Amino acid sequence: RAKSMGRNRFEFFNHNLQADIINTKRTADEILAGIDNCEFTAWYQPQFSARTMELTGVEALVRWKHPSKGLLTPDKFLRIADEINVVQMLDRIVLETALRDKMRWAAHGITVPKVSVNVSARRLHDGSLLESLADLHIRPGELSFELVESIFLDESEDVASQNLERIKALGIDIEIDDFGTGHTSIVSLLKLKPKRLKIDRQLVKPIVNASQERALVSSIIEIARSLGVETVAEGVETAAHAELLRDLGCDILQGFAFSRPLSFDDFSAEATGTGWRLAS
Ligand code: C2E
Ligand code: MG
Ligand code: MG
Ligand code: MG
Repeated sequence: RAKSMGRNRFEFFNHNLQADIINTKRTADEILAGIDNCEFTAWYQPQFSARTMELTGVEALVRWKHPSKGLLTPDKFLRIADEINVVQMLDRIVLETALRDKMRWAAHGITVPKVSVNVSARRLHDGSLLESLADLHIRPGELSFELVESIFLDESEDVASQNLERIKALGIDIEIDDFGTGHTSIVSLLKLKPKRLKIDRQLVKPIVNASQERALVSSIIEIARSLGVETVAEGVETAAHAELLRDLGCDILQGFAFSRPLSFDDFSAEATGTGWRLAS
């Protein structure tokens, strides 16, 4: 009986594995077709000064206008896009879309001081990124790259840090994304000298109710400040979070309390309407 159970189990997993492989292959093909058909675009989540509540910029986030499944968020495709090595292409689409949309907003009288884009590790190591950036004529402070810390820990660290210096020299700011999770190191702050540090939403979420987490976030903000690095809190979901983070000295706030990520049109409508309202 044990034996037959074991066999049943094996077949069960085997079956799922096969289904997984077929699904992955299908999604991979759809991603490639989607790139050709311009189905990928950027949505925008606003960021606000904690002190003045003014718009400081937006984070551009990749979205897939899937022909049959509707709008898809990155959790549905980014892992597979990474496996087939096309995240760099998506990053490039998002970067170009975001810079173009920033100009479209300006033409509509909407000032978006800065756009931040997420940049995958591989893209940072690849020299073609720098070539494509040199042609863009970026004004200092208007573009920012969000990088996750794991980027800085692999064997080609030197190449990456050289590329980082070149990126900074082009007037592009560097932000450390998802700080406080994964391979966090304070040393990386000293080495990279980023413009901003984004505190991960896992750390932000408990601060209103849990004093230890609050103390931790407070310390991160203090350390960043002592190094001249600005702090951005992500995942700010309530007005209570926003107030507390402001009191702790956090510079910039981003999260559902202010707005979910929006399409270009919806963002434009919000920005020209009655103004952003803080959800409680
Ligand atoms: P991230 O860079 O940390 O981006 C923030 C994510 O948190 C976004 O999810 C955003 O919608 C979500 N978020 C914002 N405010 C809140 C909040 O108050 N509560 C909660 N629960 N969530 C909030 P999204 O757009 O699904 O993106 C997920 C991740 O996918 C991003 O995390 C980033 O790592 C990656 N990603 C997104 N766009 C790109 C891209 O163009 N290129 C690359 N390489 N990665 C991207
Ligand atoms: Mg990000
Ligand atoms: Mg983040
Ligand atoms: Mg995050």
